[in-house]
Amino acid sequence: MSQHISILGAGLIGSLMGVYLKKRGLDVHIYDKRADWRTQVSNTEGRSINMAISHRGWKALEKAGLKEKVEAHTIPMYGRRIHDEHGTTYFQPYGKQNEAIYSISRNILNSVLLDEAEKAGVEMHFEHKVEHVDVAENKVYFSIPDGKAKAGESSVIIGADGAYSSLRSAMQKQMRFNYRQEYISHGYKELSIPPTTDGAYAMDPNALHIWPRGNFMLIALPNKDKSFTCTLFLPFEDEKVSFDKLRDKQDVEVFFKTYFNDAYQLMPTLLTDFCNNQTSALINIECYPWTVNHCLLIGDAAHAIVPFYGQGMNSGFEDCFILDGLIEKYGTFSWDLVFEKFQKNRKPDTDAICKLAMDNFREMCDRVADPRFLIRKKIEAKLHELFPYEWVPLYSMVTFTDIKYSEAYAVGKLQEAVLDKVMRDPFIAQKWENLDYHAILDNVETSKAV
Ligand SMILES: Cc1cc2nc3c(=O)[nH]c(=O)nc-3n(C[C@H](O)[C@H](O)[C@H](O)COP(=O)(O)OP(=O)(O)OC[C@H]3O[C@@H](n4cnc5c(N)ncnc54)[C@H](O)[C@@H]3O)c2cc1C
Repeated sequence: MSQHISILGAGLIGSLMGVYLKKRGLDVHIYDKRADWRTQVSNTEGRSINMAISHRGWKALEKAGLKEKVEAHTIPMYGRRIHDEHGTTYFQPYGKQNEAIYSISRNILNSVLLDEAEKAGVEMHFEHKVEHVDVAENKVYFSIPDGKAKAGESSVIIGADGAYSSLRSAMQKQMRFNYRQEYISHGYKELSIPPTTDGAYAMDPNALHIWPRGNFMLIALPNKDKSFTCTLFLPFEDEKVSFDKLRDKQDVEVFFKTYFNDAYQLMPTLLTDFCNNQTSALINIECYPWTVNHCLLIGDAAHAIVPFYGQGMNSGFEDCFILDGLIEKYGTFSWDLVFEKFQKNRKPDTDAICKLAMDNFREMCDRVADPRFLIRKKIEAKLHELFPYEWVPLYSMVTFTDIKYSEAYAVGKLQEAVLDKVMRDPFIAQKWENLDYHAILDNVETSKAV
């Protein structure tokens, strides 16, 4: 008899993991507390309506045979388009000419993955809310509609039930389980820019738009229907500018006209969107171990990170890819070994992307608008052009390669120290094209050897 595998959570990570495990010939069941949202127009529970897929995500989708299916629903974004306070915009490419991140609707992506999981033979159980997991007995207790309850035993339980994971709550009661959560000072609200009256995109669709304003920012990602989904990141409380200072429609209008006037002109539904859409919090969660008995945490359940590197889902997809690689190597009867190897191998990497995501917030809000930062980026781009294999910028390592996050983090720190030194030259704006680029590279290579 095939082993019964329970995946808790039919979100992005749970559904992809379902496809992988089914392909390994297992009896896979996915449970989610929500009703099947594929039949509903919109149900994102306050989470971002669109997101960016990058290399790690694509690699995992490709191995599961889903790349083409997903690709059809994406829009490439080749760089950031920065909007300053005066409405002037300038473009910062993300990488080389053909390198892009891809905007996709969360609902569409999740629906494609669920459809494919079902087609592969995964059994879906919607409206099954996990109330409790007995990790010692591998048993899950659900509440189901009409106030009923249900319990089920499994060979393996995979917790892909997001940042507020019920499996993780059960594991927390085990001996020596480490757990840390942090809400950051900022929250976010989703807004939108509709198509123009003649049905076109109101801005360049092949860029991720950013309005950086120091301690806060607005971003916009394109949708297939020619609209943009905007996300306002703002402190919840602050003396100057914060959500709690935007008390009525007039405050919102004045705020947008002052800081994002060009966007404001494109947002006819701003005031209703602002009032109707909830303000959501951003949480960072680290925990360890990820496995107890035959239970394992993956995706946000194991490592929820802030969204400023666009890597939460991508890292969760990479979890699926790595876990599947270990199952391929050790088989489907060595769960202890597979889970142990997975957590040991993966934890330093998710810790690294968690730190990088926190750091990138500062970069997106503040530094991208600084002229010296632009020169720094140009120097980095030139180094990458001259030495494509020896100098890969940190953003590119994270976004366009599958170099381990921890390695990218370490190399990124060395590059940062070397570039900090280069940027100390007060005449760098005039000199940057004629620097001794070999010497800069040598500095990083020497630091690596130390
Ligand atoms: C504003 C914002 C923007 C983002 N943008 C990006 C981006 O551009 N790129 C990127 O890579 N990542 C991005 N992310 C991160 C990404 O959204 C998450 O990393 C990703 O959704 C994690 O997927 P998951 O399946 O682990 O968890 P979730 O998507 O949270 O799914 C968990 C599932 O479990 C179910 N569930 C929860 N509790 C229970 C229970 N008790 N019983 C049964 N079912 C349960 C839920 O209903 C849900 O379906 C962003 C996040 C935010 C907040």
